[in-house]
Amino acid sequence: MLIDKHGRIVDYLRIAVTDKCNLRCFYCMPEEGIDFVKKKELLDYEEILRLVDLLAKLGVSKIRITGGEPFLRKEIMGLFRKLTRIKGIQKIAITTNGTLTHKYLDELIDLGITSFNLSIDSINEERFNQITRRDYFAQVMGCYREMLLRNVDLKLNCVVMKGRNIDDIIPMVALGKNNNVAIRFIEEMPFNGKGAHFENLEWNHHKILNHITSAYPMISKLKDPQGSTSFNYKVNGFMGNFGIIPAYTRSFCGSCNRLRLTPNGTIKTCLYDDGVFNIRDLMRAGATDEQLVTTIKEAIGHKAKDGFEAERQRKLNPNISESMASIGG
Ligand code: SAM
Ligand code: SF4
Repeated sequence: MLIDKHGRIVDYLRIAVTDKCNLRCFYCMPEEGIDFVKKKELLDYEEILRLVDLLAKLGVSKIRITGGEPFLRKEIMGLFRKLTRIKGIQKIAITTNGTLTHKYLDELIDLGITSFNLSIDSINEERFNQITRRDYFAQVMGCYREMLLRNVDLKLNCVVMKGRNIDDIIPMVALGKNNNVAIRFIEEMPFNGKGAHFENLEWNHHKILNHITSAYPMISKLKDPQGSTSFNYKVNGFMGNFGIIPAYTRSFCGSCNRLRLTPNGTIKTCLYDDGVFNIRDLMRAGATDEQLVTTIKEAIGHKAKDGFEAERQRKLNPNISESMASIGG
């Protein structure tokens, strides 16, 4: 088992398979893009599978494939097919922007992959296009409908941004009235690839919840699943539910069970750290499985208590300036 020095069991691996994206959500990536990882620096599929296999033997049972946009990575279905065969991996989830996803849905479901986080920051076309700086609203909403039709385990990720999509919060909660969908409102974080920071986040989780309860006073608190980053609620009588992720306030770190792998093979033990070590380099230098396991265990042993400690301990890049596309969310 992988246990950190705070007694937390790490059993969830998030893999960003690419940092490339066909959208330019302004809170994530600058218009001109970022310094994308070169092909030869990307972890290849064999390397990813070797690591997942090793980690599964150490108790990792859930993985999430994210990016960048995962469906931009060539032959991604080949990776999914092989991941589903790894012993010990009980759940594979995907975070996607929904622009290219729908044509893979049936095969994914056949493979047993039925958990999707679909990012939709606005259900108003104009606002959606302003936020993403592209014109894919119809495709993304089409993907949403296809997912509903297939009754997958569906969460919508919505980053809440002052001056951008506040008017979407209530209509998005309302999507849960007759649909089996979970809307997740996420506090904006400074991972925008530009180093743009905000001293105080006005639309924090308290304000989001107050805003929702002013429209829907009759809500019930749901039991949050183990390791959940969201505080979850249900509007009484609604089929779906909603949650709020205090990603900037970081009040969920006490139960963190995550490990992250970036497109170039950097291992992160916290979203807010600046990378603990590069496992691709170790693998390409010929490290044995035992050596990889020792290094991973050591890194997890030192996992920061919370996102604030991880941020304080950043060495290479003390001020957060990376894009979330190179971390995976
Ligand atoms: N491209 C896919 C997508 O958008 O769903 C997967 C990668 S994206 C980096 C993963 C998640 O991170 C998305 O839900 C996105 O909204 C969220 N995200 C990106 N930048 C963020 C930021 N600065 N603050 C909060 N969430 C962010
Ligand atoms: Fe692309 Fe996702 Fe970042 Fe938007 S949030 S730019 S879709 S990686």
